[in-house]
Amino acid sequence: MPRRPRAIIVERRLPGERPHLDELRALAEAAGYEVVGQLEQVREPDPRYQIGSGKAEELADMVRQLEADVVIFDNELKPVQAYNLAKLTGVEAIDRFQLILQIFARRASTREAQLQVKLAALRYELVRAKEKVRLAKMGEQPGFMGLGKYEADIYYEMIRKQIATIRRKLERMRKKRQLHRKRRKKIGFPVVSLSGYTNAGKSTLFYALTGEYVQISPSLFTTLTTTTRMANFAGRVALLTDTVGFIDRLPVVLVEAFKSTLEETALSDVIILVVDVSEPLDEVERKLGCCLDTLAEIGADKVPKVAAFNKIDLVGEGELSWKLDYLSKMVEDPIPISALYGTNLDALASRVSELLPGYVKAKVVLPLCGEAYSLASWAMDNMRVLEASYEPDKVVLVVEGLEPVVGKLIGRAKEIGGEASPEPSP
Ligand code: GDP
Ligand code: MG
Repeated sequence: MPRRPRAIIVERRLPGERPHLDELRALAEAAGYEVVGQLEQVREPDPRYQIGSGKAEELADMVRQLEADVVIFDNELKPVQAYNLAKLTGVEAIDRFQLILQIFARRASTREAQLQVKLAALRYELVRAKEKVRLAKMGEQPGFMGLGKYEADIYYEMIRKQIATIRRKLERMRKKRQLHRKRRKKIGFPVVSLSGYTNAGKSTLFYALTGEYVQISPSLFTTLTTTTRMANFAGRVALLTDTVGFIDRLPVVLVEAFKSTLEETALSDVIILVVDVSEPLDEVERKLGCCLDTLAEIGADKVPKVAAFNKIDLVGEGELSWKLDYLSKMVEDPIPISALYGTNLDALASRVSELLPGYVKAKVVLPLCGEAYSLASWAMDNMRVLEASYEPDKVVLVVEGLEPVVGKLIGRAKEIGGEASPEPSP
């Protein structure tokens, strides 16, 4: 695995404001950074560095000692602040907005989502364009590279034109948007998505549920990414995806980009909605409500959902029971778990398995020919092959998978003179 870029996270806040560093850390990790340090300061914003200049010096020392590649601020950075910080620390300084953009860019799986993300990035750049060019002319710094060669007005115009072009493209796409159902069912396994707010414990649950090794074929393996893996839900194999989470205080400019990256969630067969139940009840209620509303808005309301109430290790028994009681008005039968300690994950897995679409089992006998081998390898990629025996005159497969995919295998087997029959799955 390539080395992840090393980040130091920073927050300046006013007295009495609640800290956001835990959330910022989870966001940084979702964007692929390794968080190697953190710094916080309670004070008024400083025009020069956002944090005070003494703190900024401290940050520069940390960057050197921890060999950081980037500093990430929870606060919005003005171009001049980003510039001064880059100059002082020697590395690029980005803010929460840019961090969220990077997460979306990593996860944008459709052309439309990619364009939405690009649009949001350009709109962010447009309002900063002229000042960034002026700053870069005083000496280029990380984050300001290549800008010094432009005239401010020309750079601004260039971005404005790119924005207009992307807007036109998106408009055209909206007009002839054929529902993206095409992409689904290419793969023979059902897809289970993890959804929920940043810091709810999605990634922790992802690793807990996929930690057990599930054998898959090498070519299927290449279609999996770091955020999609095979998981075994009470004996049923499915793909589990750790999706872009919901993000608190999401800048308005990012709402469209966020929704288009949620598409993968709308296309899944089951959604596990992860909720941090250790937060105050009104907070839990607000977040849960917002997840449910947004999922409905993007057309995922028909997808079966399981609410996983996470971090029960942090909640007393009495508190848990009244919270569960109250929240079960919003979702049916939430399952209390601790992803970190592996508590009650069996109950969660078996609920998911009940909601997965129907599987069928089949025994398929293929007469030996070139086609038989390619069909067998296609089966390996698209369903669970429970048995495969290669005999002198035939290949015998026992498979289990989604009905349409197994049906397709049976059809092809018969076409090449084989025999096949489905049998109900246990
Ligand atoms: P994500 O942003 O939803 O992917 O959240 P993460 O999986 O990154 O978890 C956020 C933080 O919550 C991490 O510090 C986890 O260690 C912690 N966490 C996750 N699950 C649990 C849990 O069941 N109990 C406790 N105490 N902490 C948890
Ligand atoms: Mg995560």
